[in-house]
Amino acid sequence: MADKMTKEQRHRCMAHIRSKNTKPEMTVRKYLFARGFRYRLHVRRLPGTPDIVLHRYATVIFVHGCFWHGHDDCGKFRLPQTNVDFWKAKIERNKARDLEDYAKLHKMGWHVLVVWECQLSKQQSCATLMALARRLSQIYLMRQNAKLSNIDIEPTTESLGTFSEMPIAAEEKVEYGKSPKLQ
Ligand SMILES: [Zn+2]
Repeated sequence: MADKMTKEQRHRCMAHIRSKNTKPEMTVRKYLFARGFRYRLHVRRLPGTPDIVLHRYATVIFVHGCFWHGHDDCGKFRLPQTNVDFWKAKIERNKARDLEDYAKLHKMGWHVLVVWECQLSKQQSCATLMALARRLSQIYLMRQNAKLSNIDIEPTTESLGTFSEMPIAAEEKVEYGKSPKLQ
């Protein structure tokens, strides 16, 4: 981007880049949809307006642009050479707000997943998307297990106590029936 732009021009340009339905987001959405996942988009009543919301999985997914959300140690995150302080402060604010949103969502019982733009590069996107699907399956199983563990299919220790004489009776039976030597 040319540094000849005025602050206002740059701001408008960046704001445009920030808009929803970005290419990385579409990549994630298409993949999930093809795999049978169903979701809602940009749910405003949730903190941070998550990009993708999967109710059945109690999971929200943010697809973050590396610049706007200040992806640490990432090649895509380079501050513009003008108005450095302005951008630095802005991105720090975004990062802080992201963390607050994650915490709020977590408190509400949501799993929070973040996919970074750079993780969706040609080289990385396959691995990233597979990891995402695997994580969702794990979350689904965890939730199923939590539900099913409330169903009583194993006797309690208390009820086992009632039958505590049984093993002895069984041993005696074996002795009488199968050990002719003893008789
Ligand atoms: Zn990145």
